Amino acid sequence: MAGKIREEDVTTVRERARIDEIVRETVTIKAAGGGSYKGLCPFHDERTPSFHVTPSKGLYHCFSCGEGGDVITFVRKIDALSFTEAVEKLAGKYGITLRYEEGSGSGSGQQGQRARLIEAHKVATAFYRTQLSSPDAAHARTFLTERGFDPESWELFGVGYSPAGWDGLRNELRGKGFTEEEMITAGLAVSGQRGAYDRFRDRVMWPIRDSSADTIGFGARKLTDADQGPKYLNTPETPIYRKS
Ligand SMILES: [Zn+2]
Repeated sequence: MAGKIREEDVTTVRERARIDEIVRETVTIKAAGGGSYKGLCPFHDERTPSFHVTPSKGLYHCFSCGEGGDVITFVRKIDALSFTEAVEKLAGKYGITLRYEEGSGSGSGQQGQRARLIEAHKVATAFYRTQLSSPDAAHARTFLTERGFDPESWELFGVGYSPAGWDGLRNELRGKGFTEEEMITAGLAVSGQRGAYDRFRDRVMWPIRDSSADTIGFGARKLTDADQGPKYLNTPETPIYRKS
């Protein structure tokens, strides 16, 4: 895996990622004069806003509970990420290419783990959605329709279908250049004696998204009694999906 992100790239992320924009994804903030904003603190319960954001300084601070920091600190705290993951997430959002101090790659242009796992979930989401229209997914469509989910809402929620075979998604991901290790780390595949196989089979798939609307996992509902697994099977804990 990649090593430490180069300091100058961290600086670029800190400068380009607008703290007010990032904070607004989770907190409603209003102009508070002097170019700063305030809103209800996401880190403690309150009814009177004491959470301040100052874009000109790139900082936030809660005068009530004392939480504060820059845009990277905010993403780390709000999404429970490591420093590196938070920087990678922001870099992805603002189209900044990160370089790493050390690691197995060539150093330049290599993607961080988080970006790879998010990308794998994008491929999986598209794959499952396509599968939902296949002839083999008739029972999945019936299941959804009977519960009041029409095709329009499938689209809206990104609902899909994981085929019953053992290698549909694995082959799709492999075709897009993902290694078995990445599929397993992403929680999309399981390690077996003859290599990785699909974790989710013959299930209705609901994407689990983070605050940036990136899919980071799936909730999978079983469809037949022949399925010996649990009624709901979720993505296990992964580097991008933490169950609190
Ligand atoms: Zn607070």
